[in-house]
Amino acid sequence: MNNNYTHNPYYSLFVKQQSKQISVGQTSYSYRIKQLDKLKTAIEITYRAQIIEALQKDLNKPKVETELTEIYQIIGEIKYAKARLHKWMRKQKVATPLSMFGSGSYYIYEPKGVCLIISPWNFPFNLTFGPLVSAIAAGNSVIIKPSEMTSNASALMKEIVAAIFKEEDVALVEGEVETSTYLLELPFNHVFFTGSPQVGKIVMSAAAKHLASVTLELGGKSPTVIDKTANIDKAAKRIVWGKFMNAGQICVSPDYILIDANIKDQFIENCKKWINQFYTNQPKTSQSYARIVSEKHFKRLKLHLGNAKSLDAKIDIGGDVDINSKYIAPTIVSNLKEGATLLNEEIFGPILPVVSYNTLEEAIAYINSKERPLALYIYSNSKKHRKQIMMHTKAGGTCINNNVIHYSNHSLPFGGVNNSGIGKSHGFYGFKAFSNQRAVVKQYAFGINESLFPPYTKYKERLAELTVKWF
Ligand code: NAD
Repeated sequence: MNNNYTHNPYYSLFVKQQSKQISVGQTSYSYRIKQLDKLKTAIEITYRAQIIEALQKDLNKPKVETELTEIYQIIGEIKYAKARLHKWMRKQKVATPLSMFGSGSYYIYEPKGVCLIISPWNFPFNLTFGPLVSAIAAGNSVIIKPSEMTSNASALMKEIVAAIFKEEDVALVEGEVETSTYLLELPFNHVFFTGSPQVGKIVMSAAAKHLASVTLELGGKSPTVIDKTANIDKAAKRIVWGKFMNAGQICVSPDYILIDANIKDQFIENCKKWINQFYTNQPKTSQSYARIVSEKHFKRLKLHLGNAKSLDAKIDIGGDVDINSKYIAPTIVSNLKEGATLLNEEIFGPILPVVSYNTLEEAIAYINSKERPLALYIYSNSKKHRKQIMMHTKAGGTCINNNVIHYSNHSLPFGGVNNSGIGKSHGFYGFKAFSNQRAVVKQYAFGINESLFPPYTKYKERLAELTVKWF
């Protein structure tokens, strides 16, 4: 045992996984498929009712949302990986330049080794088991640390992992910051973290100590631009759905609206209509509306509202709060001053600021004055405007005339850029994140480069010149 880590309560588990890594890493296609199938059966059949119940307790998550945003997403990820794993595990042949005549080249995706997955609370199953699918498909062993905020979900995930996996393949440890800190001290080969940019920085600096690679799936403020050519009613309907699902506690939910000043009032009116339609005019009694995860987050959101009011912002819709049930109504706020906290911190709750602009250039400059977002949504029927926004901004992902749904396409890379994340996940991109692309050159009988070995004569000088020019 390495003495540096003997104080670490997770070191023996880590060593157990590390010592098995070569055999885990050499797992066959069929072993990996079996592991994925076990997870699929657990989520889809054995524990499905318990998953729904745990999320009901933790977040008052409606059953339909659990089915679609947790269970379906994991099952989809498994099905996608299973259908393609054979191809992903194959040798990937590549061209070899003429100057290397006599050899052939390919690369393979080999597992990174022992990986750590740290996950958040807003979609606890999806954001823990989703990356796990990629890690298993790529042949890694994994230690998981889910969020302490959704304790029913974490306890159930621990039970599932213990029931279906051997500890040397996959293990789950529960705990708070201290547990994460201990885990991050260990020399993992890859760390896959989903959470806030603030903690992402802590994770990255801990990983740097071992030069472990990282995937950071972070958050931030995702803008939504609505121009005057957009279908306002459809935009309102989709935004109300994307913003108030899971009570706004979604990394890719529209954080704020940037809208042409001429259509602002109409947009807010349409939002009111859709909020009523989705959640009735008493959302507190609606079975379709979730709650805030904890008192701490409830208070954080209430402070945002207090700050906005103190700066004379207008609460156009909602604004009601109830600490006992951690309820915050679907809320729309306008006339915000630039210093308002709602415009400067990730909201991660059911409050939607609406900011109006006079020119598209002004909207683009506003977006670019902030950190690069995880998602940027564009509602416009003008090809020219869409192109202008796409060309002059950067974001992890974009939906045109919709929001949030890009997350569900496993063929697309999912992730942020700089402050909103590093690296990509889902489907092949997730498999790649947990794999090392090992380059291989196989030499056959004669290598043309051997004719350029020393001693360097005039003839070889000429040959080198020809190589530079022609090969
Ligand atoms: P968080 O960063 O507070 O916590 C995430 C995980 O990190 C938890 O397991 C937590 O226990 C652990 N953690 C917290 N503090 C730590 C520390 N000091 N050292 C080590 N580990 C620590 O995030 P959260 O509140 O759980 O989730 C909300 C954030 O996650 C938002 O910013 C949201 O945008 C982001 N998010 C991103 C995605 C994505 O896919 N990009 C998905 C969901 C949430």
